[in-house]
Amino acid sequence: MKISQPKFILWGTFLSVILGLLSGGFFIEASLNIQWVGQLFLNALKMTIIPLIFSAVVSGICNLNKNSNFGRTGLITVTYYTITTSVAVLIGLLSVNLLEPGKGLKLNINESNQYAGSDEAISFSDIPLSMVTDNLFKSATNGELLPIIIFAVLFAVALLKVDSKGERLIVFFGDINTIMMQIVSWIMMLTPIGVFALVSSRVAEAGGLEGFSDEIKAVGKYVVCVIFGLAVHFFFLFLVLKKITSHGFLYIKFLLRALITAFGTASSSATLPTSLACTNEAGVNPSTSKFVLPLGATVNMDGTALYEAVAVMFIAQVYGIDLGVGQQLIVFITATLAAIGAAGIPQAGLVTMVLVLTAVNLPLEGVGLLLAVDWFLDRFRTTINVWGDSVGAAVVEQMTNQQGKVRGSN
Ligand code: ASP
Repeated sequence: MKISQPKFILWGTFLSVILGLLSGGFFIEASLNIQWVGQLFLNALKMTIIPLIFSAVVSGICNLNKNSNFGRTGLITVTYYTITTSVAVLIGLLSVNLLEPGKGLKLNINESNQYAGSDEAISFSDIPLSMVTDNLFKSATNGELLPIIIFAVLFAVALLKVDSKGERLIVFFGDINTIMMQIVSWIMMLTPIGVFALVSSRVAEAGGLEGFSDEIKAVGKYVVCVIFGLAVHFFFLFLVLKKITSHGFLYIKFLLRALITAFGTASSSATLPTSLACTNEAGVNPSTSKFVLPLGATVNMDGTALYEAVAVMFIAQVYGIDLGVGQQLIVFITATLAAIGAAGIPQAGLVTMVLVLTAVNLPLEGVGLLLAVDWFLDRFRTTINVWGDSVGAAVVEQMTNQQGKVRGSN
């Protein structure tokens, strides 16, 4: 099913971020009063996620297998995700070593360390453990998408194995998916209003223009460093897209609604319905994106990986601790794992960062330094997470010769 949105939705979504920032900056009270509108939009997106993901993964894999080998697609997807996440961490490490945002910074560590998240610290074994659930329904209720996706993959492979007995169900899940995408297209019409409400109420919550600029000033160089690294990675992925596929600038335009939704919601999972629709519009074969995007929204987080590397190095710099090449190698590996382990929900990266800090023996209270601006950086890194998945869909499609009708080329 091809979904096309009217032009005003695209421009409205774009404007909604700017107007949201202005409104939250200047009209604090009014902006706080519309917080519920943003929540309503978020709820509507989240409402579709479980039936959408399950039907997308099942129908995506079953259709993929008609034309090519699913195992090969899976391998290419995982390879793409691993390489691009590693490049993201590398860009993060290079930026933070180059700009040294924490050098010479005198922050009062005791005052700012009200971080309470350290009891939620995760360990390495939590990552494989999070892949298989003991209760599918509990995971669905808690929004744990990775075990749902793994179950959907198993279900699809089993459907293919039982030959003609599985055919009715393949059609059934294909139909459910089409219906879910129709609902998503209706919800997407509300994106400008939803994003406006989400952005303006969050800026207002941070104290409007004055409060927010105070927060930024204290760790301004760190904020610049993260955003700089993310921008470099955005272009790196664009070059990958251009080199491997026939897509170009137009692909960004098609994906803009998904990228802005990611900025507005700070959640890769909540953005998934929109990114599925946008890649579909851009001409990516839905069978590929239905597998690549849900998996990416849960495990492929380039922005989060880059941010974790910068944040940990920043904390080390503020504490005056010099991390050598060996230690930075540990940061490289653990930041990649921490990003895989992070859920596609707001500020999940802050929790999994404990993994990286522990690995290089840095004080966990250091996270307290980043708290005030984290909600803001979360929006940028989520945007890059979604961009990484969307480029992945086009790249995997090209490399498995699944090409649909390319509309994102220029
Ligand atoms: N909010 C991010 C996402 O949903 C995860 C994180 O970095 O906190 O992709």
